[in-house]
Amino acid sequence: MPPTLDSAQLAFDREHLWHPYTSMRDPLPVYPVVGASGVRLTLADGRTLIDGMASWWCAIHGYAHPALNAAIAAQLERMPHVMFGGLTHEPAIELGKLLVGLTALERVFFCDSGSVSVEVAIKMALQYWYALGKPEKRRLLTLRGGYHGDTFGAMAVCDPVTGMHHLFRSALPEHLFAPIPSCRFDDAWDETATGDFEALIATHAHELSAVILEPIVQGAGGMRFYHPNYLRKVRELCDTHDVLLIADEIATGFGRTGKLFACEHAAVSPDILCLGKALTGGSMTLAATLTSARVANGISSGPAGGAFMHGPTFMANPMACAAAVASIRTLLASDWQTRVASIETQLRAELAPCAGSSRVTDVRVLGAIGVCEMKERVDVAAVQRRFVERGVWIRPFGRLVYLMPPYVIEPDELSQLTAAIAELAKS
Ligand SMILES: *Cc1c(COP(=O)(O)O)cnc(C)c1O
Repeated sequence: MPPTLDSAQLAFDREHLWHPYTSMRDPLPVYPVVGASGVRLTLADGRTLIDGMASWWCAIHGYAHPALNAAIAAQLERMPHVMFGGLTHEPAIELGKLLVGLTALERVFFCDSGSVSVEVAIKMALQYWYALGKPEKRRLLTLRGGYHGDTFGAMAVCDPVTGMHHLFRSALPEHLFAPIPSCRFDDAWDETATGDFEALIATHAHELSAVILEPIVQGAGGMRFYHPNYLRKVRELCDTHDVLLIADEIATGFGRTGKLFACEHAAVSPDILCLGKALTGGSMTLAATLTSARVANGISSGPAGGAFMHGPTFMANPMACAAAVASIRTLLASDWQTRVASIETQLRAELAPCAGSSRVTDVRVLGAIGVCEMKERVDVAAVQRRFVERGVWIRPFGRLVYLMPPYVIEPDELSQLTAAIAELAKS
C-alpha cells in the first residue's frame, strides 16, 4: 500500500504552505502525490497520471530511475554533505570533468538552483570588467520575453511587462531590452531580424558587461523558438563590441531541443553558461555556472586577491553532484537523440490538428517541447481538473498549454497527452 494523505494533512497544506506563485487566501487546488515512477505520478487516491511536465522540465529520465537512485543512495551512505570551502570530493570532481568535457568552457561554479546560477553568471561578468579596470561596464542587455529566475539579479532581466516580477521593478537595476526575436526557428532567415539588437549593443557597449539570453528557446517567458542565425549574430556582435555572452541553458540543456545544448543549433559557445533543471535528471536541486579560462583568469587578476565573491553553504552538495553524474552518464549512454527526434515527430503530427481550432492562435514544436498557444488565458484550476480526470499531468500557464515530457515516454503515453490537449483545443 502506498502512503496516503488524510484530509487534516491537506487542510494544513492549504492553511500553511505556500506553493509556487499562489495566493494564501485563495490557493489553487493541489493534488496529493504519493509516488512517482517512470513517467507516472501516483496520487493519494490511487489514480496514476502520465506526466507531461517532467516536473518543470527536469525529470528527463522519468522518476525513480534506478541508476540515479543508486548513485544518491550510495553517496548518502558515504557522505551526504560537507562544506566545499577548503574541502573537495569525488562527485564534484567527476561532475566537473563531465561538464568541461561536454562544453567548450573550462571553469565550473556549483550552486543550488537555476536562479542562483544566473546571479553567479551576472557577478562573474561584473567582476570580470571590474578586474580589467572597466567598472562602468555593469549593465546587461537581454531580450524581451525572457525568463531567468526569481531572485533579484535574475528578475531584473526577465521580461519587464509579461515577466512575473513587474511589481518589483522600482527596486531592480535597469537593464536594456531588445524586442523578442521576430524570426522563428523554422522561418526563412530575415537579415533585418537583429536590427534593434544591433542598435542597442552598438549604442551601449561602453556600459554593457554582458548579453544574457536563453538560446533558441524562450521558456517560462512565453515558450517561443527563434532562429539560430539570431543567436549566431548575437555572438558576433558581442565579440565586435567587447561584451560577454551569458547563455542561460537552464531549460534547454541536456537534450531538450534536440541538441545536447541549444547553443549547438547555432554552433556558438557563450562566455558564461548557466545549467540547472535537468542537470540532476530532476532528482536533486543543483545548478552550475561555467565560464572560459579567459573570464576566470580576468576575474582572478582583480582586487580581493582575485577571489570570485560567491560561496553558497551547500555548494557542490555531494549527493546532488553524484545524482548529476549518474544522470549525465545515463543520458549519454542512451539513444536520447533518437528519442527526442521521435517525440518531436509525434508532437508535430498529433498537435497539428489543434492549429485548426478557433480557440488556438499557434502550435509549435521543437525537440521534446510541444506548445499549443490559446487565444484566451487558460483557467488553470479548471483545466488541471479536466486533465487529471483524463489521467494526465499537464500544467498550463497564461495562454500556453504545453508538453515537455520525460524522454523515456512511450508513443501511446505521449498520445494520451496530446489527445488531452486536442480535446481542450476543440472544446
Ligand atoms: C527555471 C529557469 C530558471 C530558474 O531556475 P530555478 O531553479 O527555478 O531557480 C532560470 N532560467 C531559465 C531559463 C529557467 O527555465
